[in-house]
Amino acid sequence: MAEKTKRMSDMMLHYLSITEQYNDCIIFYRLGDFYEMFFEDAVEASQILELTLTGRDCGLEERAPMCGVPYHAADSYIAKLVAHGKKVAICEQLTLPGEQKGLVKRDVIRIVSNGTMTETDLFDEKKNNFICSICLSGDDYAFSWADITTGDCFTYESKGKDDILNTIQKVLPSQIICNSEAMKYLQSLDQGVAYTLPIYENFSDDMYSYQNAKKTLKERFGLEDLSSLILDDKKLALCAAGALISYIDGTQKRKVDIISSIQYYTDVKHLVLDSVALKNLEISQNLRDGKEYGTLLWALDNTLTAGGGRKLREMIVSPLKDVAAVNYRLDGVADLIGDTMRLASLSDVLKGVKDLERLCGRLSNGILNPRDCLQIRLTLGCIPSIKMQLVGMNSKVLKDIFANLGVYDDLVTLLTNVFKDNPPVTTRDGNFVRDGFDEKLDHYRKIKYNAKEMLDDLADRERKATGIKTLKIGYNKIFGYYIEVSNSYLQQVPYKYIRKQTLVGGERFITEELKKLEEEILTADEQILKIENDIFKKIQKVLGDRLSDMLKTARCLSMLDVILNFAYISKKRNYSRPTMLDYNGTLNIVGGRHPVVEVGSKVSFIPNDTVLDSNENRMMIITGPNMAGKSTYMRQVALIVIMAHIGCFVSAKSAEIPLVDRIFTRVGASDNLLFNQSTFMVEMSEVASIAKNATEHSLLVMDEVGRGTSTFDGLSIAWAVVEYLALKLKAKTLFATHYHELSEIEGSIDGVKNYKITVKEINGEIVFMRKIVRGSANKSFGIEVAALSGVPKEITDRAKKILSSLEKNDITVKSSASSEPTTNKEKSFVENYLDKLDLNNVTPLKAFEILAFLKSKTEE
Ligand code: ATP
Repeated sequence: MAEKTKRMSDMMLHYLSITEQYNDCIIFYRLGDFYEMFFEDAVEASQILELTLTGRDCGLEERAPMCGVPYHAADSYIAKLVAHGKKVAICEQLTLPGEQKGLVKRDVIRIVSNGTMTETDLFDEKKNNFICSICLSGDDYAFSWADITTGDCFTYESKGKDDILNTIQKVLPSQIICNSEAMKYLQSLDQGVAYTLPIYENFSDDMYSYQNAKKTLKERFGLEDLSSLILDDKKLALCAAGALISYIDGTQKRKVDIISSIQYYTDVKHLVLDSVALKNLEISQNLRDGKEYGTLLWALDNTLTAGGGRKLREMIVSPLKDVAAVNYRLDGVADLIGDTMRLASLSDVLKGVKDLERLCGRLSNGILNPRDCLQIRLTLGCIPSIKMQLVGMNSKVLKDIFANLGVYDDLVTLLTNVFKDNPPVTTRDGNFVRDGFDEKLDHYRKIKYNAKEMLDDLADRERKATGIKTLKIGYNKIFGYYIEVSNSYLQQVPYKYIRKQTLVGGERFITEELKKLEEEILTADEQILKIENDIFKKIQKVLGDRLSDMLKTARCLSMLDVILNFAYISKKRNYSRPTMLDYNGTLNIVGGRHPVVEVGSKVSFIPNDTVLDSNENRMMIITGPNMAGKSTYMRQVALIVIMAHIGCFVSAKSAEIPLVDRIFTRVGASDNLLFNQSTFMVEMSEVASIAKNATEHSLLVMDEVGRGTSTFDGLSIAWAVVEYLALKLKAKTLFATHYHELSEIEGSIDGVKNYKITVKEINGEIVFMRKIVRGSANKSFGIEVAALSGVPKEITDRAKKILSSLEKNDITVKSSASSEPTTNKEKSFVENYLDKLDLNNVTPLKAFEILAFLKSKTEE
């Protein structure tokens, strides 16, 4: 390129110098009313954006490939490139053409990537757009995440780098930056895992160093001592946060002041839901297509504001683990449930609340527009009514909200006085300031809209003053406005008239007054625009001074919305307040319902009870036919526990819920072929994670352990897992299985109890009762359920015959074409062995050994 550049134009040379500095970005180079892209950028962008590729003379023999987008419509094009994982550097025109000698000054004013988009109109309003920073050091890692449209910023550190993926699943960032060690780790992941990650890149290791990160944070937050931000011993969390802030401020080329503090996120305060639990329990993404429909979030989200929706999402993936903190929220819900009138009127007011948090983000990110100001005004205008509705509430949470909502009467008055009722979404064409707010503006608007009347008025006055009846005012391009007097009246022309042109029948003049009016008429548009924009800048300044207050208000509104939402759905769906207990308490749910199935299904939901404690009832072995409702029941218990831990009333008649440190799930059959894991491998790795990480304070949901392999292998594994969980971990466990043999464990291991979900067989057809009772089922009704689901009768009839043979211990089944299953005449070794076995004198452990022995025999 160096040789080629010798002949290039100055503008192109400047363009190339920019591409060198920002070589990982597509450069949007401002030329007049367009952002242009050149060379490889143009080729790539034209394909993604479906733009016509043209060329531009650039001093080289061949024209430079070029494509462009209008600057005022650039946002959607940038969003599309960014969605394709590109980064866009906006190189803006900093001087006007002709304002200075030589080239117009241009420089990059911002780099836009997935995690640093500020154009909030392009986002799902109820979701945050997080960029995260990962710092890995050995097996320790730190994770910081921030949303530059709302100012939310967190940091966290932990042990066990494999947990990084869990944290990514929880936060769901749209972009990752990391130190080189973390980069290596992410690159080492299986292709299938990497495929699920957002774009990630290695950011300067220098910026991740403790010294530099500390310096960044100290300077950025104006603090000498960072302990108020991040505890001294959380060094790695500090490194990740420091690098994140320096990346954000660096790419935005300014201090992104909406991020005004950092919250340290700690597992100590939160019930941990790892990525498997989030997925299997369908907390915010469903298993079918990853969408929100059918999830707990979907069922619980009746929030009225975008901020409330985001807050609920944050709360639901990070439930609390502290009785007082949960009760703080529950008290608020109880307060509102008890007052129907207030519930209704608060809902009415909240419906008028706009997304104040993101409006603050737009203010801070320099993209506020007049319509946003109207939205701010409407929102702040709701505060007095909200406060009025909160007077007399008893709960601390509602009192705190009341105290922190702020007072904005002055701002509301100012914004009402300044902005028209329906202002435009851009300041570009003015016309957003109300008449009567600024005298000068009114004056120029009068001139702009009444120029003809003003000229007529002047002509009229001149005719009266001079007595020249034929005097008229005209306009041409050379002289502008003039007064024309016919020859017969020339002797009446006053001295102040300045002659400009002589015609055959008369003469043309100008006066000082006419010149001034002309000047005003010709510059009215420009003046109007300037005055309106000056006013807008002042408003931005006034709002900017209140930014942190408004953010605080926004967060109070979001919290209020969530509490109100909980109260609303709890009342509507007859939820009850859970009694929160410490870890050792007994989980006792009476009349529990599945919160999602209940909402989504047309049939009425049959409630069920649950008792789980740390002693006699720590494990429920649940059997029952296919389709009986085992999975629904177990998930319902887990979801009720989560609901309680986020401070929501629960879908039950009554509930006592002890604190839970973590919920683990092993649910259903699924494979991760891309992740290099078969169905059985997925199952076993979930079991392994539970065995490694669960504690006696965890809640385990185990569905179908051991189903992915042969019957004996599966049964043996399931049996051993049950023993391990019940004897070693002692965690509260729900264990559903089709291995009816497992019900033998009750009585031999303390804490294990059998339950079954009932069905009735009426005239050969099964009726699902959906009731859980003590005891164990001895039949799975798999064939009946297969028939119900439409499997051809020929298959189900044949299956019944095969089953009956198998039940008679006849393993050899002849081909269906020939006849019924036949019986072996000669007894096998296994059969002989079993004949001699006295089952009454065999312990479960011994039974397992015998099974293993017989299996080895059959494999010989
Ligand atoms: P399988 O063993 O085949 O996996 P299962 O016993 O786990 O079946 P589920 O999948 O939990 O059965 O439930 C089957 C269906 O029954 C679901 O569609 C669910 O909506 C419905 N169902 C489960 N429990 C109830 C209930 N208590 N009240 C009403 N409907 C229920």
